[in-house]
Amino acid sequence: MNHNVIVIGGGPAGLLAAATAASRGARVTLLERMDRPARKLRICGKGRGNIGNTAPLDDFLSHFGKNFRFLRPALSHFFTRETIDLLESLGIAVKEERGGRLFPVSDNAQDLVDAFVRHARDKGVTIRTGCRVRGISRADDGFEVAFGSQTLKADRIILATGGASYPATGSTGDGYGLAKSLGHAIAPIAPALIPLVTAGDTAQRLQGLSLKNVRVELRVDGKKAGEDMGEMLFTHFGLSGPLILTLSKAAVRAVDQGKKTEILIDLKPALDPAKLDARLLRDLGEHGKMHLENLLRGLMPPKLIPVCLEQTRLAGDKPAHQISAEERKRLRLWLKELRFTVSGYRPLREAIITSGGVELSEVNPKSMQSKVCPGLFLAGEVLDMDADTGGFNLQAALSSGYLAGRGASEPS
Ligand SMILES: Cc1cc2nc3c(=O)[nH]c(=O)nc-3n(C[C@H](O)[C@H](O)[C@H](O)COP(=O)(O)OP(=O)(O)OC[C@H]3O[C@@H](n4cnc5c(N)ncnc54)[C@H](O)[C@@H]3O)c2cc1C
Repeated sequence: MNHNVIVIGGGPAGLLAAATAASRGARVTLLERMDRPARKLRICGKGRGNIGNTAPLDDFLSHFGKNFRFLRPALSHFFTRETIDLLESLGIAVKEERGGRLFPVSDNAQDLVDAFVRHARDKGVTIRTGCRVRGISRADDGFEVAFGSQTLKADRIILATGGASYPATGSTGDGYGLAKSLGHAIAPIAPALIPLVTAGDTAQRLQGLSLKNVRVELRVDGKKAGEDMGEMLFTHFGLSGPLILTLSKAAVRAVDQGKKTEILIDLKPALDPAKLDARLLRDLGEHGKMHLENLLRGLMPPKLIPVCLEQTRLAGDKPAHQISAEERKRLRLWLKELRFTVSGYRPLREAIITSGGVELSEVNPKSMQSKVCPGLFLAGEVLDMDADTGGFNLQAALSSGYLAGRGASEPS
């Protein structure tokens, strides 16, 4: 029997789930609340659409934190190669950038949206926009889905409503309530990949400054809780950029638990303390008459200099040759540990991804079918899975969407 499937949510997970189920014989209707599908995909990767990552399987999974195992079966069916092949078959050439990140060659995420929508339509999916699903109930022979003043019947449902961030894209967290009404438990929702708010005004003074090739450590109650190398940014409220986003999930948890949460920036990660000291000695010796504030230009971006002088209590107009060993030590320690106290984080609506969601223990990872409500399948960010930046989240949406589409089209 060909199943009658309703997919709720037209993001990457829902679109691929719908196309997959339809290509395997199911009659598929996709209900999307916005006037157009995949509004969030359109803004992904700053509008360039970092659609996947070439990391090998185990490395790829390591970006998903404690829930990394869940996705393994989905990735064994639909992984990076399948994403690239599918996109190429839809006329989208893909290129690889730093860190294995995949982007469309056009650098335009809208091309991805158009391709996934076309793919679903070509497979026979009926896409209905402006249809916000407000309820799903069990009927004798399947489900009844309510939206607006209408109801539609289906024998299988794929819930792919996304997370609860960037609500203007349509992802307002509706799926959690819908899943709950069908018996699912929801792991607490929190922002992940979120900029951090810092105490004091130092970050604000550095607003707009971006640092490359720095090492950032997250310290919680005096202990290292995470570390990474790369790029970060100062903003009007605190810290952002890829490094900070990656460390943010653990920082959010620590802040919520009332723990002392700090970010330490190593501005000279390539130099250990001894080498950095030798470099400072050399600079101070070679430019003995130069004022310290001018000499610091060779060591850091100009915007950092006043902060450095203030925090190390060094006089900018002091000639380099008058800097004492003790003062040099203060400078060295500061360059290796520029400290910020994390006082909070930006709201969920600004998160790149939502952590928490439908409990994974209640979903069969081999089919994405609910264990508590047979006939219901789940895919994408509505599930309790989230990863680092780098294309992992979109690939997870596609892989789980593909598997849910397959599962929902299987005979009973
Ligand atoms: C600014 C930003 C940039 C990002 N960049 C990247 C990136 O470059 N690479 C990457 O891997 N990840 C990125 N992400 C994360 C990525 O966007 C998500 O992981 C991905 O979109 C999740 O896909 P999804 O299909 O599960 O959910 P979504 O894309 O959120 O789609 C869910 C869909 O369901 C619809 N919907 C919701 N409720 C209902 C309802 N009640 N009835 C009907 N329809 C409903 C929504 O309107 C939406 O269209 C980014 C996220 C943000 C916010």
